[in-house]
Amino acid sequence: MSGKENAQRMEKIVSLCKRRGFIFQSSEIYGGLNGVWDYGPLGVELKNNLKQYWWQVMVRERDDVVGLDGAILTHPAVLKASGHVDTFTDPMVDCRTCKARLRADQLAEKNGARQCPNCGGKDLTEARPFNLMFQTQMGASADPASIAYLRPETAQSIFVQFKNVLDVSRKKLPFGIAQIGKAFRNEINPRNFTFRSREFEQMELEYFCRPEQGMDLLAYWLKERIRFYEEIGISRKRLHVLDVPEKERAFYSKGTFDIEYEFPFGRQELEGVAYRTDYDLQQHIKASGKPLDYFDEETKERFVPHVVEPSAGVDRTVLALICDAYDEDSAPDEKGKMETRIVIRFHPRMAPIKCAIFPLLRNKEALVAKAREVQALLRPHMNVFYDEGGAIGRRYRRQDEIGTPFGVTIDFETLGEKGEGLRDTVTLRDRDSMKQERVAIKDLPQLIPSKIR
Ligand code: ATP
Repeated sequence: MSGKENAQRMEKIVSLCKRRGFIFQSSEIYGGLNGVWDYGPLGVELKNNLKQYWWQVMVRERDDVVGLDGAILTHPAVLKASGHVDTFTDPMVDCRTCKARLRADQLAEKNGARQCPNCGGKDLTEARPFNLMFQTQMGASADPASIAYLRPETAQSIFVQFKNVLDVSRKKLPFGIAQIGKAFRNEINPRNFTFRSREFEQMELEYFCRPEQGMDLLAYWLKERIRFYEEIGISRKRLHVLDVPEKERAFYSKGTFDIEYEFPFGRQELEGVAYRTDYDLQQHIKASGKPLDYFDEETKERFVPHVVEPSAGVDRTVLALICDAYDEDSAPDEKGKMETRIVIRFHPRMAPIKCAIFPLLRNKEALVAKAREVQALLRPHMNVFYDEGGAIGRRYRRQDEIGTPFGVTIDFETLGEKGEGLRDTVTLRDRDSMKQERVAIKDLPQLIPSKIR
């Protein structure tokens, strides 16, 4: 796809997200808050499906991982020890012509001279570090002792609670602590829709191990995480693994892989899988004076565990899910004329709505009553949507456009008007093939979930 086609594709995706209620700009009626987004009725379902599936495979299906839900407000000592207070910075340059503040690594260059990408000006300041953390005030007094930070990553509360979790869970190495939650970074240039936001969510696992297991577990987690993306329906051919070269890794990391996705705006990081050695725990031991070590009952050794960290972004994965699934094909309209159909081919596991329920006609009481019965039957099993408005073809299109994998239509056959054999059967339509099959209502609660898994 050409650059122009990719830009058009992205425009269509952003507009669909707003039009159908996946993602809105935050505080839109006041002009919007830059780099901050709200998820609408469909967006929140998609996001929840993603988070729940991550939690299912990373925590519930494993004996060696437990969960944590840490606070967002963070003690400054934690982030001082982790290095965030002193070094979590981006080098920034100001353009003296248009006053834009720019990331030093995003400057344009012309004939070897640095140039402002906004106005083309060449009068730029030297690069200065800019801390990406949001600082806030706890309590009424405004002295330095009342400073707190909104966490820039979820990982630190896991390290700080390592000992408590170890004691209560009685896990043996290797074992992990997982967390999903908000993180905040005062990004200089939030851009590419939700890709780089100032408020976002992370899904992180800190997997603690013996030092000699670190490199093998790094390879293991990379594989597991790629499998995860395939299982949620992201095509393998658009996923790439970057083996981050030593000079670009954090100094304490012995190996880092970035899992990247080919977004319409370019190949960008979805998740980092990093072997962080014992750096974080050692930092907190030094700063707090508390023993965050591990005693191996069998070998009688006491040591500080090493850690492998798969760290994924919820918002970036949601965006990748939408970009990957967005498609256009053609389908016949009411009169049989072919028209362009927008279809989001979400994996059924991720789809915000699993099944739409349509009475063929809204003014036939018996059809509506039966459709409501089917809705009540399916509701405990999945997220369903009832729609009686407009021609049936239009209703199908509306669901295709939001990725609903199944549609059930209640028609006159269902009422037994075309022979007793068809009574209490409905048509089950498949979003991708648009094929319909006739199935018994009573089979739906088993049949549809069997196609979702
Ligand atoms: P980038 O280089 O893109 O800024 P990073 O390497 O700083 O990302 P990490 O600190 O490794 O990111 O954070 C882990 C994950 O959290 C990222 O892979 C990404 O999915 C997510 N993430 C980080 N920053 C943002 C952001 N500003 N907006 C949305 N998601 C983010």
